[in-house]
Amino acid sequence: MSQLIYLDNAATTAVRPEVFEKMKPFFIENYSNPSAVYSFAGDTKEAVEKAREQIAAVLGAKAKEIYFTAGGSESDNWAIKGIAEALQEKGKHIITSKIEHHAVLHTCEYLEKHGYEVTYLDVDADGVVSPEAVEKAIRPDTILISIMTANNEIGTIEPIAQIGAVAKKHGILFHTDAVQAFAHIPMNVDEMNIDLLSASGHKFNGPKGVGFLYIRSGIKIGPFVHGGAQERGRRAGTTNVPGVVGMAEAARLAQEEMDKRIEKETAVRDYFIEQIEKRVPYAKLNGHRTNRLPNNVNFCFRFIEGESLLILLDQKGICGSSGSACTSGSLDPSHVLLAIGLPHEIAHGSLRLTLSEATTKDDAEFVVSELEKIVERLRSMSPLYEDFVKEEKKNA
Ligand SMILES: *Cc1c(COP(=O)(O)O)cnc(C)c1O
Repeated sequence: MSQLIYLDNAATTAVRPEVFEKMKPFFIENYSNPSAVYSFAGDTKEAVEKAREQIAAVLGAKAKEIYFTAGGSESDNWAIKGIAEALQEKGKHIITSKIEHHAVLHTCEYLEKHGYEVTYLDVDADGVVSPEAVEKAIRPDTILISIMTANNEIGTIEPIAQIGAVAKKHGILFHTDAVQAFAHIPMNVDEMNIDLLSASGHKFNGPKGVGFLYIRSGIKIGPFVHGGAQERGRRAGTTNVPGVVGMAEAARLAQEEMDKRIEKETAVRDYFIEQIEKRVPYAKLNGHRTNRLPNNVNFCFRFIEGESLLILLDQKGICGSSGSACTSGSLDPSHVLLAIGLPHEIAHGSLRLTLSEATTKDDAEFVVSELEKIVERLRSMSPLYEDFVKEEKKNA
């Protein structure tokens, strides 16, 4: 294998060297616990509060509204279970969508076992949640609306500001899983009427195992991790100082370079899409064509098994994914692809390529040329494809 082409940036990203440099002093030189009173802990305390301000600045939030967690899954769990518990006297109904990440879906399923009712909204063929459908689903006992900002599999960006406006109009709290969107596309919690927002460091070139939950001030929500008084008594556990410092630096850099990166990634993304559509027959783009993350390419190839595709791409040094990383290995096709209306057999043949800023047109050219050959080879071994071609010829 000569060269690695990593196109699985929705699963995780590389830590930027500048980010790692910022983290380093907090492992060996200054390892103090920021909760301590002695002056040795002064620097870590300051670094953590600076990190909080940097993160808040990216969202147009206040520093005290940022709560550090151990990642996106924890933030989603906390937002949903925390609000469910805090508002149970008001009601026990939650609205979400069928295409959420499992960190949201499985949390909702857990709550259903504990007396809550959840509406899982359908999406259209592009994976868009309609704000009208959200409004229609609202009941007197609805306490929370949770809709992701952008989908991790098909890249569709949801009409978050409109959904936030619906939530606000009805006085219902609005949570968004922004793990794929934060630090990738512009976001502002006030303009988008967001009350709670989840994000995760390792999805934007920060470290793994650290994330945050934005909680609008004044919202009643209990602690999720019980113990010490860290994070204003709402999230116990010794602060992951290198982690939060690295995440904040990654967010700051991402914000600074966002316009440039969006432009660059979008150009390579669109080249990928154009070339695949031109050169690989019976390929279907999944997700919204324009309202999509700048780094997301997702296709279904008829008569192809996604797993076989991944294995053959891997032999060429290409890392992609089929379905989400969490569901690969299971035989069920992705819940997201089923929700956009794809039949099982087509949903099985999906490929997600998620780019980074480093991905070039040359990379895209190499990947598409390999993909062309691999798809042709796999189809030549498929009896279903053979029948299909015969049928096509007959009808021609
Ligand atoms: C990756 C991801 C998560 C989980 O984040 P972790 O930090 O890995 O726990 C949640 N939601 C979405 C949309 C994701 O892409």
